[in-house]
Amino acid sequence: PRRIAYELHSGHVNTAGKIPLGLKSRSLSVLVTGGSGFVGSHLVDRLMARGDSVIVVDNFFTGRKDNILHHLRNPRFELIRHDVVEPILLEVDQIYHLACPASPVHYKYNPTNVVGTLNMLGLAKRINARFLLTSTSEVYGDPLVHPQPETYWGNVNPIGVRSCYDEGKRVAETLTMDYHRGLNTQVRIARIFNTYGPRMCLDDGRVVSNFVAQALRKEPMTVYGDGKQTRSFQYVSDLVEGLMRLMEGEHVGPFNLGNAIEFTMLQLAKVVQDTIDPNAKIEFRPNTEDDPHKRKPDISRAKELLGWQPVVPLQEGLPMMISDFRQRIFSDQKEGGS
Ligand code: NAD
Ligand code: UDP
Ligand code: UDP
Repeated sequence: PRRIAYELHSGHVNTAGKIPLGLKSRSLSVLVTGGSGFVGSHLVDRLMARGDSVIVVDNFFTGRKDNILHHLRNPRFELIRHDVVEPILLEVDQIYHLACPASPVHYKYNPTNVVGTLNMLGLAKRINARFLLTSTSEVYGDPLVHPQPETYWGNVNPIGVRSCYDEGKRVAETLTMDYHRGLNTQVRIARIFNTYGPRMCLDDGRVVSNFVAQALRKEPMTVYGDGKQTRSFQYVSDLVEGLMRLMEGEHVGPFNLGNAIEFTMLQLAKVVQDTIDPNAKIEFRPNTEDDPHKRKPDISRAKELLGWQPVVPLQEGLPMMISDFRQRIFSDQKEGGS
């Protein structure tokens, strides 16, 4: 394997292994890879608010400095521009591994899931930190079981256009379990279902961000295929709560973290119309290859073992995302950006 001249980024004394289960009682040192992205930056807000020291490692592939700007002057916060495909040396108690190009338009070209996850597991093993992998509902592929429980092994095309992502995350789960079983690394696995909220990339091609940005810009909402395919949309604060409960709890997982209320894309378009503009138009486009027909999490395991379930319905979460999008789209226009 490649070796680097390791350099210490943090003088923190590692106390991992003594992490109290249940509610934490002292501040921790926490690494969030992908921490300047959509989910990561909300997680960082919560960790900072509870008094932890937080290191964000991000290469800004899809993340934005704006998302974490408000922490830059805080002495408990550190930002490192780094690609997790390269090894790194740090000393922390916990690692939330989110780094990954997560949107279909970005993820097709990148080995982050495999090599990046291996490096972060190697790091966790060396310093005896607890490692949490943010896997995805995509590991279920185009599911033949509905809703999907964690025990379902999935229906994934190994050579399809999405396989870099879904097979990549499946390998990431395998590596995580191998480090756990073979090397005693403390691990947690979350399988995240479609999540939305403020700070999502404006133009990353995901359906909620597309519809909201299009309706705000007075463009037609692009519905792919016949719009009858389904997804279940989780508000980001619900996800962050689930991730933190998983990290602090005693169960390895995998755990589905998602909202169990299912919408067709046409129903989603209707909610966006109702919330932004009743006159917003819909335009049908051909669907992308290998698009899963339906998806909805079975969250019984997370309910029972983590005491977690989503509390923000789409009708409440969407307006919070819309006000963030409105601000970003219209301030961009003033500056002449897109
Ligand atoms: P995002 O694109 O906003 O965030 C990912 C972050 O990782 C970005 O800041 C990006 O710059 C960074 N990154 C990418 N490649 C990197 C690399 N090689 N080295 C360092 N940093 C790198 O996406 P998100 O929605 O916040 O997703 C976060 C995690 O949650 C991802 O692992 C994703 O697979 C998972 N997930 C998200 C969803 C969702 O609906 N948002 C669903 C399932 C799984
Ligand atoms: N690694 C890292 N930081 C560390 C320890 C390991 O980035 O503090 C990387 C290391 O460079 C390797 C990967 O994690 O590419 C797996 O490490 P491990 O020690 O498990 O495997 P090995 O290096 O023995 O193959
Ligand atoms: N989709 C759509 N219009 C868009 C973008 C996506 O109808 O502008 C559909 C897409 O075909 C898929 C669903 O919305 O069926 C969710 O797509 P997204 O990329 O948000 O997430 P994922 O496919 O990863 O669940």
